[in-house]
Amino acid sequence: MKCPFCGADDTQVIDSRVNEEGNSIRRRRRCAACDKRFTTYETAELHLPQVVKQNGSREEFSRDKLRLSFTRALHKRPVPTEYVDRAIEHIVQKILGQGEREIMARSLGEIVMQELRLMDKVAYIRFASVYRSFQDVDDFHDVIRDLDKREQENHAETPQRRSTDKAQAD
Ligand SMILES: [Zn+2]
Repeated sequence: MKCPFCGADDTQVIDSRVNEEGNSIRRRRRCAACDKRFTTYETAELHLPQVVKQNGSREEFSRDKLRLSFTRALHKRPVPTEYVDRAIEHIVQKILGQGEREIMARSLGEIVMQELRLMDKVAYIRFASVYRSFQDVDDFHDVIRDLDKREQENHAETPQRRSTDKAQAD
């Protein structure tokens, strides 16, 4: 860390102390060049990232918008609200855990799809069809085939409830 007085690169930490809450570190530093002392603070930054859309524009990450995506995909599907709450919390934790300042809308969409896939197959396909802008019926076949394959592979991963609906998009 540069000395704020003389700009020298060579400063040493002479003392580090974690504050009582444990969420910040205070460091005393000494400049080897001019011998002045100064203090720095280090805190973890937990901000939700900006969402970068396909056209390059950015918007704030919004739980409400995320919820809207779920609500639309799950329209008239027998999935309790608490499942949606849990999925949203899961997504937020995942994104915070990545620690990035930006997330591509595309990656966010894929994360939503992962959650929907575990929740309700019909909703998953509904979301995928809009999100991936399906052009024809083959695209549906592809995603349904993929879904079946994953189901067979990931029996252990299957969550609390399984929808027995045949994958029919409306
Ligand atoms: Zn200095």
